[in-house]
Amino acid sequence: MSKSFDLLKPYLDKSAALDMALSALSFDFDTTAPKKAASYTHQAMAILSKESYDALMNNQVKELLDKCLNEDLTTKEKAIVLELQKIYDKLIKIPSELYNENRKLEREAQLAWEEAKEKSDYSIFQPYLEKIIENQKAFIKYREDDQLKGYDVLLNDYEPGFTVEVLDQFFELLKKEIVPLIEKVKNKNHKIDTSFLNRDFDIEKQREFSSWLANYVGFDLSRGIIKESVHPYTTQLHKNDVRFTTHYYKNQLDSAIYSTIHESGHAKYEQGIADNLTLTLVGSGTSMGMHESQSRFYENCVGRNKNFLGPVFNKLKETFPHQLSDVTLLDFYKAVNKFEPGRIRIEADELTYSLHIMVRYQIEKRIFNGEVDTVDLPTLWNQMYQEYLGVTPKNDAEGILQDVHWSGGSFGYFPSYALGSAIAAQIYNHLQLLMPIEEMLTTGDFDKIDEYLQTNIYQFGKTKTTQQLLKDMMNQSFDSSYYIKYLKDKYHAIYEEEE
Ligand code: ZN
Repeated sequence: MSKSFDLLKPYLDKSAALDMALSALSFDFDTTAPKKAASYTHQAMAILSKESYDALMNNQVKELLDKCLNEDLTTKEKAIVLELQKIYDKLIKIPSELYNENRKLEREAQLAWEEAKEKSDYSIFQPYLEKIIENQKAFIKYREDDQLKGYDVLLNDYEPGFTVEVLDQFFELLKKEIVPLIEKVKNKNHKIDTSFLNRDFDIEKQREFSSWLANYVGFDLSRGIIKESVHPYTTQLHKNDVRFTTHYYKNQLDSAIYSTIHESGHAKYEQGIADNLTLTLVGSGTSMGMHESQSRFYENCVGRNKNFLGPVFNKLKETFPHQLSDVTLLDFYKAVNKFEPGRIRIEADELTYSLHIMVRYQIEKRIFNGEVDTVDLPTLWNQMYQEYLGVTPKNDAEGILQDVHWSGGSFGYFPSYALGSAIAAQIYNHLQLLMPIEEMLTTGDFDKIDEYLQTNIYQFGKTKTTQQLLKDMMNQSFDSSYYIKYLKDKYHAIYEEEE
């Protein structure tokens, strides 16, 4: 082991311990804390957060980091050092004055966004957005290098290797294949009845079912817990304490089911990190897109698969015998796969979801190419929704203002959601070649699937990039054609089988 790395380790451990405390507090605040806890709890969290930042961002650490870069390191040490360097690079290249000024701006922008959304008036948010974009463009200038320029700099923060060049191909294919597919099958939508999902489903019974379901798909409840929050999410203190939230609505049975499976996918990834990586800088999922591929693999490829639903629907009928007495497996399967082109991303179904992302991607690309004025964004947004999804937002609140992310300067973040779905389909296709996956889903035998994901994805944490994982697994790089084929096969079968 290298000497400098040994000296660096206490700093890393301290930062990890503080981050763990912050995750625990934050999860507690979201799920358990009383309503009025906010101000004092946030005060304490801000102090811990600064401590965690200072534990890594100081001259001693910087010196040790530089030394480590020139010393012989083990693979694990090297991965940790490179991760630390990434954090440094991102912050150090930007003058601290501009960085701090921007943080202040983002706080104000979020309030402006809230007000603008509330009043459905983009003009309240527009001046802030303008300034945020200006700052992001300045950040890009400071951070550009020989390989990464412009919007690619931002994309690289979330998904290394997925540049504009890769994403353009991906979204072009979606536009060419999926937009016409939607047009073709949407007039058959009336044939699919979903009304039984809106009957009365006792929340306590839904809770029991969710717990059964998470366990059924392999979430280890002896190393994790499930709680509730409006927006479901997963967090981890370390690999043996992984927590996720789901939500329950009395008259929307599928909401809890699919939130639970989705978060179980994220949570299984975190529970599968190698022992020697947990609580290090590389001890969690490698990227947002890869993480999202694991949640969507379970939510969609598995969770909305007819074979998987066989035993699951039996259990559901046992739980709600009265409410589901007249519903068949086929009815249920179709209902949870029904698509409806809508205006709101977070309500979107499997088929149309990526088109919502495409709109935002195209707009962000134009913003950073300097091709569009922020004043014109709502019009552009609405035009694209009409073109791709065949619907026009009724107002700014359900159009351009629907998501908070831009107010926090999160540009380049959304494509990961669409990539996650596409990567999931590519992995699912690969597994079909390796094992009788459909049969396994029919019997609820997840052992081989789990073992495969564990061995080829989970354990590595951030020591391998998404592209590297795919390459090592399948001897292929990212290929979106599997996703297109998956969607086409699936929706043709559901919507056209009666002809
Ligand atoms: Zn997710």
